[in-house]
Amino acid sequence: MNTNRTVTTPVETDVIVIGAGPTGLCLGIALLQSGIRTLLIDRLTRGQNTSRAAVIHARTLEVLESLGVTENLVAKGIHASRFSIRDRDRTLVPIDFQRLPTEYPYALMVSQATTESLLLDRYSELGGRILRPCAMQSLTQDDEGVTVSLDDGSCHRARYVVGADGMHSTVREAVNIPFVGASYPESFVLADVRLSGELPHDEVILFFSPAGMIVVAPLPDGQHRIVATTDLAPEHPDANWLQALLDARGPEHHPLKIREVIWGSRFHVHHRIAAHYRTGRVLLAGDAAHVHSPAGGQGMNAGILDAAALAKALNAALQGNTLALTQYGDVRRPIAMKIISLADRLTRLATVRPRLRPLRNSIMSLLGHNPRLRRRLALELSGLNYR
Ligand SMILES: Cc1cc2nc3c(=O)[nH]c(=O)nc-3n(C[C@H](O)[C@H](O)[C@H](O)COP(=O)(O)OP(=O)(O)OC[C@H]3O[C@@H](n4cnc5c(N)ncnc54)[C@H](O)[C@@H]3O)c2cc1C
Repeated sequence: MNTNRTVTTPVETDVIVIGAGPTGLCLGIALLQSGIRTLLIDRLTRGQNTSRAAVIHARTLEVLESLGVTENLVAKGIHASRFSIRDRDRTLVPIDFQRLPTEYPYALMVSQATTESLLLDRYSELGGRILRPCAMQSLTQDDEGVTVSLDDGSCHRARYVVGADGMHSTVREAVNIPFVGASYPESFVLADVRLSGELPHDEVILFFSPAGMIVVAPLPDGQHRIVATTDLAPEHPDANWLQALLDARGPEHHPLKIREVIWGSRFHVHHRIAAHYRTGRVLLAGDAAHVHSPAGGQGMNAGILDAAALAKALNAALQGNTLALTQYGDVRRPIAMKIISLADRLTRLATVRPRLRPLRNSIMSLLGHNPRLRRRLALELSGLNYR
């Protein structure tokens, strides 16, 4: 902690949150609801209008309920009550969310753009402020607070600062917290498309095949999300390229046809976690603290749950219990490690070498007959086992 610096800027607010993505917005809402003065800062003029994280799990919906967002969200999304792992036409592992102990026994399929827009509406409704477009460049902290310097030359000062500024977090780098982990060699392809063919409207399907894996999930407005691992993916996959992928990996008896590609992207996947979530008065949450493969659709969900836990910890700290800030990391970091491990297991299963794939499918099919195991997986995917 820098204690030698002469502080000239007065503390103007309780908490500054760097990053107005889903994590930062949720944190902002939760803090404002507790009467804590909050300022969000984001480098972009407006939120990114891309689909990205398309699934919200049951535990996240429970938590978003207390932020006043769930009712609007569930009205906008598809309620997928089943998830299955298939080998082309054969179901290996069927997972049913309908019997989960929650008011939301499904995975809500909705684009991240819609989720962020509803979060922003709620934050604004509470009178929340966002400074944008402004990028944080550096920060210094002392015994009283933290001062952040922005690229427009201005400085802002708060009791605490949270880095909710994504995978390449400037906040994490400013306080020298190592981001430990590695990258997968394969790239992932993601696309929102319109399909024709026989497909259940309330089921997320993960197809394993000798050629690799592909996920097909329903989205609102008659769209479907496709996610696949591949060695050589184009930056913007077109209909022909995606069709070849579906033909090689998707259902054989009732093939699916791509009618339109609405959005597509290729990205490399990392699995990394911050060595710790706190340095003095600076904390991390969301992708700034942990990133992993999209298998299991946990990334944004984990960030939202971090935000809810951190809001409580900051509330306690502002009332004198600063230990709560350390406890936040003690609780949330092991959960992120478990999520990384689940995503890693699913990714390794999906990308297993071709000669081992028949063995993998036989083992999965056997395990898929075990109802206790299926329920455990449902609880893990929905986040309900971390209540
Ligand atoms: C192509 C793609 C597909 C994905 N698919 C899925 C999926 O299927 N399921 C899933 O769960 N997750 C998925 N994810 C991950 C998901 O999008 C993230 O987990 C989620 O966005 C994390 O939210 P966040 O608020 O922590 O960070 P971000 O959404 O990254 O938001 C960070 C914010 O900080 C701002 N910022 C960054 N640096 C600064 C700075 N120096 N100063 C000010 N502002 C700054 C950025 O502008 C941004 O608005 C996907 C991501 C990508 C890129």
